[in-house]
Amino acid sequence: MSLVVVGSVAFDAIETPFGKTDKIVGGAASFISLTGSYFTPKTKLVAVVGGDFPRNFIELLHTRGVNTEGLQIKENEKSFFWSGRYHNDMNSRDTLVTELNVLGTFDPLLPETYQDCEYLMLGNLAPSVQLTVIERLRKRPKLIVMDTMNFWMEVALDDLKAVMKKVDVISVNDSEARQLTGEYALKTAAKKILDMGPKFVIIKKGEHGALLFSKTQIFFAPALPLEIVFDPTGAGDTFAGGFIGHLAKTGDISFTNMKRAIVYGSAMASFCVEKFGTEALENLTQEKIQTRITEFAELVNAEM
Ligand code: AMP
Repeated sequence: MSLVVVGSVAFDAIETPFGKTDKIVGGAASFISLTGSYFTPKTKLVAVVGGDFPRNFIELLHTRGVNTEGLQIKENEKSFFWSGRYHNDMNSRDTLVTELNVLGTFDPLLPETYQDCEYLMLGNLAPSVQLTVIERLRKRPKLIVMDTMNFWMEVALDDLKAVMKKVDVISVNDSEARQLTGEYALKTAAKKILDMGPKFVIIKKGEHGALLFSKTQIFFAPALPLEIVFDPTGAGDTFAGGFIGHLAKTGDISFTNMKRAIVYGSAMASFCVEKFGTEALENLTQEKIQTRITEFAELVNAEM
């Protein structure tokens, strides 16, 4: 089923305890659309880049079957740029630079071929743009999932709250859930977020897994313990791509299937962190993905 992905497509510069990159391709929608392509052949991207953005990444998306009709290229402008530095535990990071560039004036255009959207993934970018995308779809998708970030809580909280009223699922990390609600306990924070509009909230806890809440149910999945954690950038977006990708592939949005989707999201994120940027997501196979899913199933099977 068709999956429309909106979000940043960007340059990132990353420092981790293991190394440092110059500008490499990043951005929420880069991770999400690459990940989505392993689940549905109908992944469609809405984003904007500048003339400085490498064409070979766009070609890579085409090779993966991603439709980029909704990707605008502003030849005389610069792409969004983000730079971050990870702390030793890799679970926390500081943003060093956020240069919106083309993202600052982004007017998302939805090609006619995107109007069949059944699953909408609002990846990280200005909440006002997320809202415009919802409004420009003539038919409400079967499921709308949004992701966001502390940056937008600081500069566009009212817009963010307006989007939250219109989505089914919101995905945030633990510190963002606390920032948004002023609550430390995640169960209480989740309750407050559910009161703001979404029917489900996912709280990501980095290498400590992810929680899924509805008003009446909770589910927890650990993250797969890995031998290599190189660069966590994009893990949250990749997680979101696997989550909505699985739901779009199966067409089932029950809580039970969302639990499976959380496991798919976690499995995809486990690949992402093993290499810098999007590299680990460029050449996966269904066999590799299934092996990780099996590892997950074994990790949590206590045979009780
Ligand atoms: P994650 O590690 O999943 O939180 O996502 C990191 C990605 O988000 C990076 O590739 C950045 O380019 C992108 N990013 C960082 N800040 C923003 C922002 N304010 N708006 C949109 N995308 C962002």
